[in-house]
Amino acid sequence: MSEISFSDWNLPEYILDALAVEGWEKPTEIQREAIPPAREGSDIIGQARTGSGKTAAFGIPIIERSEPTGLPQSIVLCPTRELATQVCSELQWIQGDKGLIILPVYGGTDLEKQAQKLNSGVDIIVGTPGRVIDMTKRKHLNLQSISLLCLDEADRMLDMGFWPDISWIFSNMPERNQTLLFSATFPQEIIDSTDELLNNPVTIMSDDLEVEVPEINQKWIRIGRANKLWGVGRILANMESADQCLIFCNTKRMVELLEDRLGKHRFSSSTLHGDMSQNKREKVMLGFRDNEIKVLIATDVAARGLDVDGVTIVINYDLPDNPEDYVHRIGRTGRMGKKGNAWSFVGREDLRQLERIRTTWNLNIVKSDAPDLPDGVNRDPVRPRKDWAESSDPFGMVQISINAGANLISSKLSLSEWLISQAKVKELAIGEISINEKYTTVDIHAESAQRVLEILERREYNGSKLTAELAIR
Ligand code: AMP
Repeated sequence: MSEISFSDWNLPEYILDALAVEGWEKPTEIQREAIPPAREGSDIIGQARTGSGKTAAFGIPIIERSEPTGLPQSIVLCPTRELATQVCSELQWIQGDKGLIILPVYGGTDLEKQAQKLNSGVDIIVGTPGRVIDMTKRKHLNLQSISLLCLDEADRMLDMGFWPDISWIFSNMPERNQTLLFSATFPQEIIDSTDELLNNPVTIMSDDLEVEVPEINQKWIRIGRANKLWGVGRILANMESADQCLIFCNTKRMVELLEDRLGKHRFSSSTLHGDMSQNKREKVMLGFRDNEIKVLIATDVAARGLDVDGVTIVINYDLPDNPEDYVHRIGRTGRMGKKGNAWSFVGREDLRQLERIRTTWNLNIVKSDAPDLPDGVNRDPVRPRKDWAESSDPFGMVQISINAGANLISSKLSLSEWLISQAKVKELAIGEISINEKYTTVDIHAESAQRVLEILERREYNGSKLTAELAIR
């Protein structure tokens, strides 16, 4: 937050009134940097993530320059319907009583109704690229009259494959004389496009990614697939009444599965993913925003632009494939100066990805144990399981350790023959055997390990009872 107040800028009365009603006094950093040049008509490249106040950074200049003529003059393109809805409602309150018609144009809503609204006149469009093109081709929307184009979360639109659509929209807007582009990151394709499409832009490379991200307490837990649910149980058991938790999975299926499994352990949660109807998604987002939903499980795409300030915990149930998504995900917490906690579950196969995320953003993600059970709770909500897969080496072998050495185990051959005949283990499933003075280790394929442990527990070996356990490597 800066020392400048909105009232220091000579903004129109209707905007100042609206800001006052909302209780906003000072612009955020991106607003302070972007609003004055944008009001003068400059092109802008702004680096900003959700939570920085970027919506008003373009919203205020757009509202100021648009007039209630019924002809579209400005268009904001967003990657998702949710973000479009949010941008729309923010523009709506910023305009106060100016009387502009601001219309969201995105897929999943009734085409006919949308067409009718477009036909009856609009001033500002906020939409997703696909539907905007669709409406233009159907002649319900005329891009010719639009002079301002704003791209919100450009990197995300690039990720989602919208770039050709965006180029199409650009090329069908001959009257465009101002372009505002906001993005959290700047992949090469965006840099190349900005050279081509923007005219002498004012560039605002905020360092808010570096500044804000570390305020979030980032931890990672080494945990395999089998025990992720246990980990979630531990974190949820520690939630306090003011907490809100957002859990990310990489697939819609996993989102559903996790909700179901948590339900079986009496944790109530809701889901948000792209296969849900628009209606259902809006309901869930509202419930989360109103703090009625405490735990929300989501995919990256569905959670983009989710504008909820109360999220205190983010869990990466699956580590994201894309390092940028990591920053977007954890950016859901710790917003507007609040503290946040981000937990990442990292299995053996995720270790490299964790490293990639860490180095891409130079992040301080600290290795940690799952949180302890809170005071007064002595049973895990979800019981931990032996995780053979997580303990195995790249060939799928785990090591078990037997509490008997050379005095009882005469040779490697006799032990492996015993295992083959008694535990019905295939010869190939037995790897290295090492007989030491007091103990013996056996490498065994993870799939057979449980059976071997059970047989060792039940049957005697050369007249002696042995005990064995999974060795920690
Ligand atoms: P955004 O990055 O646009 O999604 O904004 C993040 C959150 O900050 C939203 O809840 C905004 O309503 C809020 N916000 C943005 N700018 C300001 C400001 N200048 N003063 C107070 N709240 C703000």
